[in-house]
Amino acid sequence: MKTTDGIIYITKYFNNKGDLTLKPIKLGIIGCGIAARELHWPVLKEMTDKFEIAAVCNHTEEKAKSFSQMVGNVPYVLDYNEILNMKDIDAVDIILPIELNFETVKAAMKANKHIIVEKPLASNLKDAENMVELEKTYPKVAMVAENFRYRKAVEKAGNYMASGKIGKPYAVFWNKFDKVDKVTNLYANTSWRINHKYPGGFVTDAGIHNIAALRDLLGDIKGTGIFTKSANPELGQIDSMSLQFSSPQDISGVVNLFFSSDGYKENTLKILGTQGCITIDGDVLTVSKGDSVELQEVYPQDDGYRGEFEDFYKAISEGKKSKATFYESYLDLKMLIDAYNLEF
Ligand code: NAP
Repeated sequence: MKTTDGIIYITKYFNNKGDLTLKPIKLGIIGCGIAARELHWPVLKEMTDKFEIAAVCNHTEEKAKSFSQMVGNVPYVLDYNEILNMKDIDAVDIILPIELNFETVKAAMKANKHIIVEKPLASNLKDAENMVELEKTYPKVAMVAENFRYRKAVEKAGNYMASGKIGKPYAVFWNKFDKVDKVTNLYANTSWRINHKYPGGFVTDAGIHNIAALRDLLGDIKGTGIFTKSANPELGQIDSMSLQFSSPQDISGVVNLFFSSDGYKENTLKILGTQGCITIDGDVLTVSKGDSVELQEVYPQDDGYRGEFEDFYKAISEGKKSKATFYESYLDLKMLIDAYNLEF
């Protein structure tokens, strides 16, 4: 199969049923923390026809070893350069503290690996811009694991908006109220989140997903007003944000992200149009007009993790770009940081 660099490297073989198929892509996992264990592994273990985890890396041995055991006793290393030097590894999955993304991606590019790296793209815009520059000429796949780009309910909502199902959309509200703290949430205990080296603290780490989905739906939204709070300083600089924005098509909106909301939980996206309304409430998408529900669709566990790995595989095997480019993630981050600058 031809790839972007013109090299044929995915070998076809006959499986035990005699069908011609592709060999799974050999994947090295860099970072064996919570996201590796709880988000990537559950998906990858269902995709063994597409990905074979060939080695894992964590700089602390205990985590490297236990993750290696979890994924089938593959070799583990403590220095990611060892993974990058493994000639039979085609691709790397980088799941590290955000501030390490730039240097690790740079090293992975030097080693000519296909790359999927966790969001947000970088801990500052300078690194993110540098990564976009590198992406421009990189002959292999480089993508961001921004799972909200692959949420089916969001994609469907976009299709319904575009087809005029609710008339002209004019306002969008995304309310995410949740209680995250050190007692109930593993993420709140990670040292790189507590002593974060990126602006915005927990709101940046978690809220970048909402911005990515809103940009996919509405185009290049811009912040027009903001207030932020730190209700629980354990979550970093801010854990609460109400951000007003407008889109190029004159759709206005508010994204409310409150991660220390005690006693109240909500996760709803509402899109108001001149002839109806689309809501996504958890995994349920509803289109309503007047007092009646026009359609309702349920997308169980609609988190997009499987979709991002399907796209990674497709991009590698077809020699195409993924839709979750570094450039799109850079624009997500820039939108958020520019919005903070309205207040900070
Ligand atoms: P985490 O649990 O702290 O995982 C990071 C891992 O990297 C830790 O095991 C850490 O080991 C290891 N590490 C740190 N420096 C290293 C180095 N130089 N070489 C090798 N290993 C190193 O954090 P996480 O929650 O999994 O988050 C990791 C990434 O996933 C972040 O980019 C985050 O934004 C992203 N994420 C995405 C989602 C999503 O929904 N898409 C959800 C959660 C997280 P030690 O702990 O031993 O230092």
